[in-house]
Amino acid sequence: MRPQVLYPLFSDLSSLKGVGGRISKLLEKLLDSDKIANLLWHLPSGYIDRSYSPNIIDAPDNRIITLKVTVGKHLPPHNRTSPYRIECYDDTGFITLTFFKVKGDYVKNLLPEGSQRIISGKVESFNNKLQMSHPDYVVQTERINEVLGFETIYPLTAGISNKVLSKIQKQALDKAPELDEWIDASLLKQKGWDNWHNSLISAHEPKSEADLSPANKFRSRLAYDELLAGQLALAIVRQKYKKTKGRSIKGDGKLRHKLLEHLPFALTSAQKRVLAEIGEDMASETKMLRLLQGDVGSGKTIVALLTMLNAIECGAQSAIMAPTDILSRQHFETISTLADKIGVRTAILTGRTKGKKREELLSELKDGKIDILIGTHALFQDDVTFKDLACVIIDEQHRFGVQQRLDLSAKGNLADVLVMTATPIPRTLTLTAYGDMDCSRIDELPPGRQKIDTLAMPKSKMTSIIDGVKRALSTGTKVYWVCPLVEESEKLDLAAAEERYEHLHKIFGDKVGLVHGKMKGADKDKIMEDFAFGSTDLLIATTVIEVGVNVPQATIMVIEHAERFGLSQLHQLRGRIGRGSDKSTCILLYSPPLSETAQTRLKTIRETEDGFIIAEEDLKLRGAGELLGTRQSGLPEFKLADLSMHGDLIAIARKDAELIMSKDANLTSERGKNLRTLLYLFEKDQVANTLRSG
Ligand code: ADP
Ligand code: MG
Repeated sequence: MRPQVLYPLFSDLSSLKGVGGRISKLLEKLLDSDKIANLLWHLPSGYIDRSYSPNIIDAPDNRIITLKVTVGKHLPPHNRTSPYRIECYDDTGFITLTFFKVKGDYVKNLLPEGSQRIISGKVESFNNKLQMSHPDYVVQTERINEVLGFETIYPLTAGISNKVLSKIQKQALDKAPELDEWIDASLLKQKGWDNWHNSLISAHEPKSEADLSPANKFRSRLAYDELLAGQLALAIVRQKYKKTKGRSIKGDGKLRHKLLEHLPFALTSAQKRVLAEIGEDMASETKMLRLLQGDVGSGKTIVALLTMLNAIECGAQSAIMAPTDILSRQHFETISTLADKIGVRTAILTGRTKGKKREELLSELKDGKIDILIGTHALFQDDVTFKDLACVIIDEQHRFGVQQRLDLSAKGNLADVLVMTATPIPRTLTLTAYGDMDCSRIDELPPGRQKIDTLAMPKSKMTSIIDGVKRALSTGTKVYWVCPLVEESEKLDLAAAEERYEHLHKIFGDKVGLVHGKMKGADKDKIMEDFAFGSTDLLIATTVIEVGVNVPQATIMVIEHAERFGLSQLHQLRGRIGRGSDKSTCILLYSPPLSETAQTRLKTIRETEDGFIIAEEDLKLRGAGELLGTRQSGLPEFKLADLSMHGDLIAIARKDAELIMSKDANLTSERGKNLRTLLYLFEKDQVANTLRSG
């Protein structure tokens, strides 16, 4: 269970002073959490130096300073647009404070004539007179130390000011306990890192630009903590998984052989290689937990089917799980068509399988009358029992996190697990996301694929692009039109998509469809079906089409505001076309001027279709802070680690975690206990709870 020292950090945000209903909602949104700990991870984005406190005569123009003044005459405005002025002075000169739109007695009470005050803000000279408009601070002289010095600036959200957030942050930092060291002493020394508490406090008190860099000592240490917690959690999961005995699955190859005879193509050498790797895992008596990475169209489905057939040859059953209804049905269609030919029985189970049909299916499954069950998360509902499940395939990894993997292994079944992902991610990151798994890569596309023509065009060419779309539609082509990301807000994305839909609907009429993430599953499926098989030829979409759907007749894709998308995202989107035998074209519409990184991104995507190269480049270009929709990229998310800056730390954390597991697998040593605290600090509770109590 969570150690007591951490309790204060895991109280609700609302237990802090000044965090009422409204603020607490805003904070939750900002932090993506309702726990105090997440305030600690909300690191500053800047600082203001208020330490300069000259006499008025020495006050420089255009700089933030702190002054000690005597309040002189109040000069109320003579009309509605002019400001309220207050003359202030010290022994060396005068300064005028100005306030616009003053209500009631506010400034009178704040700055009574004849009183002394500390004021802080930006001074400007106006008609040769010094002036400060709306000082940031006006306090009584004894409170000078609250103002003088460095003020931390935090990333904000609308509705919370920096002052308010800073007060809340301070309370959180005051709650941060001293914690016993979990980092290896020699690493600590080598990196020159301070302890956790000091590093945290320093990270929240930047005094220079360098203090804001992820590369500085304080931030690096905190990033390492986060990475180590992640790696350790994965190592624990892996060990649990590998320790539980599996069964040896080694079919006679008859079904697989038959299937291969029915295929109109031969396997690529990459497919053969990964099948051999998988086969070895399955044959061994430890459970398989393997990741299969392969770009869109690299032929993972056949690999999945052949893997499942291996289990079926042994008289057992297999299951394949996809993240959405559409994807499950697509798998079902592909797989059942092939399975029927070789006498293998398939069925589909999703959230929409209900009532009598579901009952029948479940009883067939229990009796072993179904060999392959295909479906969504519904596959793992409590009442779904297999007669003898030996192989589980999970498609589209990034929606299936460590927690789910842990749940799956906790189900106590002996099944081998293969996780498939079409999101190629760089090697270092493979460790952060999938460090608990063995990895196979299909790094080769089937032969004869046509290159997709990818063009970048300024938005001003819209009219001629629409003309081009018109011509293409008249020849029976289907077209995807991807709408721009607006900001990290699905609502605004949707508004942009709806606007484009209205526009194109006026031109093309009922041929146009609209699909977006806010639609219900059934509605979405209907639209996708109309596009795949029906009368919709031009599909306006938000990024929901990124994962899944296979419509080979679609050979054109227009992506609006392509400069706002990440490289991997563009790659995933583009992967929706180029699936048939016809030449495909992808048009990247952009709004000039392009930033340098945006130019590099568009150039990269035009020049290569290799997902792994794109993923590496994507990582390099990240951190530029101008990308929208990074959440959908499928990469693991970190609060403190910056993957483009802290890449080297990932490898160290990985090694460290392995070493720890080899020496102290149950984390019972002195350091082990501190590492347990680390796991809870980063909310790896579920994993930490699986450790025997120390
Ligand atoms: P992925 O799931 O990796 O995106 P799929 O399994 O859907 O890719 O395969 C894409 C297409 O390529 C399918 O039409 C499939 O039949 C075909 N395919 C798979 N393997 C080969 C191969 N070795 N040679 C030719 N075509 C292949
Ligand atoms: Mg697939």
